[in-house]
Amino acid sequence: MDYISTRGKVGAVGFIDAVLMGLGDDGGLLVPKRIPQVPADTLAQWSKLSYPELALELFSLYTDGEIPREDLKQLVDDSYAAFRDKDVTPVRKVNDGTYVLELFHGPTFAFKDIALQFLGNLYSYISRQKNSIIHILGATSGDTGASAIEGVRGKEGIRICILHPHGKVSKVQELQMTTVNDANVLNLSVDGNFDDCQRIIKDLFADVAFKQEYHLRAINSINVARVLAQIVYYFYAYFRLDEKVRAAGGVNFSVPTGNFGDIFAGYLAKRMGLPVGKLILATNENNILERFVSEGVYQPGEFHMTYSPSMDIQVASNFERYLYYLYGEDSEAVCSLMDSFKKDGRIGIPAEKLAQVQSDFAAYGVQNDECLATIGEYHDEYGYLLDPHTACGATASAKHTAQGETTIVLATAHPAKFNEAIELIHIEQTFPPQIQALFDKPQFQTRVPGTNEAVKAELLKFF
Ligand SMILES: *Cc1c(COP(=O)(O)O)cnc(C)c1O
Repeated sequence: MDYISTRGKVGAVGFIDAVLMGLGDDGGLLVPKRIPQVPADTLAQWSKLSYPELALELFSLYTDGEIPREDLKQLVDDSYAAFRDKDVTPVRKVNDGTYVLELFHGPTFAFKDIALQFLGNLYSYISRQKNSIIHILGATSGDTGASAIEGVRGKEGIRICILHPHGKVSKVQELQMTTVNDANVLNLSVDGNFDDCQRIIKDLFADVAFKQEYHLRAINSINVARVLAQIVYYFYAYFRLDEKVRAAGGVNFSVPTGNFGDIFAGYLAKRMGLPVGKLILATNENNILERFVSEGVYQPGEFHMTYSPSMDIQVASNFERYLYYLYGEDSEAVCSLMDSFKKDGRIGIPAEKLAQVQSDFAAYGVQNDECLATIGEYHDEYGYLLDPHTACGATASAKHTAQGETTIVLATAHPAKFNEAIELIHIEQTFPPQIQALFDKPQFQTRVPGTNEAVKAELLKFF
C-alpha cells in the first residue's frame, strides 16, 4: 500500500516510511493512496473475530505485505495482551439505543493506549530491522505523554523524551509519566505552558542536522499508524451489537473530539464499507469543529477552560485529512485551503461542500454545565460513571440520536483520570488499584527552563 501526502508533494512511500515520516515532508498529512474496501461477505467473516484477530486483518490491508504476517501478528498480540479486559474494548449497553464502547482498559486508562501500544511496538520492530536507535520526542498536555511512555518503556532500540508543562497537568497524569523508572525514559518538566513545550519540540524538529543525527521521531496524533490502530474498534464495536439491532439500521458513533484523529478513523471505517449511520462529532466549549459542521467556516475561537482538557484544542491537527477527501482527493485544493488558513486565519467552504459535510457528520458543542449534568444523569439513572470527555460524547449522542436509532458512544478515558470534575457533583469514586498505587511511588523527572537550549542540553546528555 502506498501512502501519499494531502498536499501532493511527497512521492508515494510505503507503510513503514509513512510511519517514520510522521508529518509529510511537504507539510501535509499522509493518507493511503486508496481506501481499502471491505465487501459484505468479509464483514460477515470478521464479525466473529477476537480483537487482536480483527486488528491483524485490518492492519494487513494497510500494510499490504510490507511486514510479514507472522511479525505483524506478534506486534498486534504484544500490543493488546496488556489490556485489562479480555475483549480489549468491551461494549456496554446503557439503555435501548445507547451503548458505551470502553476504550480505557490499557495501561494509562485512556484511549490513546490503543494506538500508542501498537506504535511503540512498531517503532521497536523498525529499530531492530534497521539496526538503529530511534529517539522519540514529544510534548504533552497530559494523556499522550503517559500513553507514549507506557508504549515504549524498557524497549530496546528506543529512547523517549516527553516534555510537559510544570505543574499544569493533572496529578494522575503527572504521576503516570514520572513514576516510570526505565533508563530509556526522560521526563522534562518545563517551566511554561503546553504551547511553550510544543514550540520547543517544533524548533528541535526543524533543526534538520540534529533531527537526522539522532533519528528523532514524533508520536503525535497525525502519525498514520495511530489513525490505523483506531479504525479497529469501530468495526469491533459494530460486530458486538445484536443482529437485530444492526439490522434495524442507523448505527451511529458519537466521538469526543479534539484533534480529529479518533473520528477520522471512524470516517475511514465508514468509507471502507462499515455500515455506519451518523458520525456524531462531540466537542466541548472549544468548538471550532462544531462551528465548521454547522456553518462551513473553520476558524479558531476564544480559548475556554473545560472539564475535558484533552479536547481543549483551537486547531485540529488531523482535520486536513478530511478536507482532502471532502475535495475529492484534490491536493491542489487542499494546498490552497491551507494557504488561506495561514493567511487569513480561516477556511470557508461553499454551500455544496457544506451539504456534504453535514451528511458526513452531525456535531454538538457541549457546555461545561451540560457535561456535569450528563455525568450526574448517567450515574443516577444507569449506575454508570462517565469521565467528562465521554460525557461530551453522551450529551451529543442524546441530541442527535433519532427514535429507533442506535448510538455507540466512545468512552475515551476512565473517570478516575478526571476526578477533579466528578468531585464537583459530589460523586465519590473508588480508584482502580493501579492508579491508587501511583501515589506512593517515587517520581523521576528533570525540571528545566522553557528554552530550546536548556532542553537540547538535557537531550544530549540523555542520548
Ligand atoms: C486525546 C483525547 C480525546 C480527543 O481525541 P482526538 O483524536 O484528538 O480527537 C478525547 N478524549 C480523551 C480522553 C483524549 O485523551
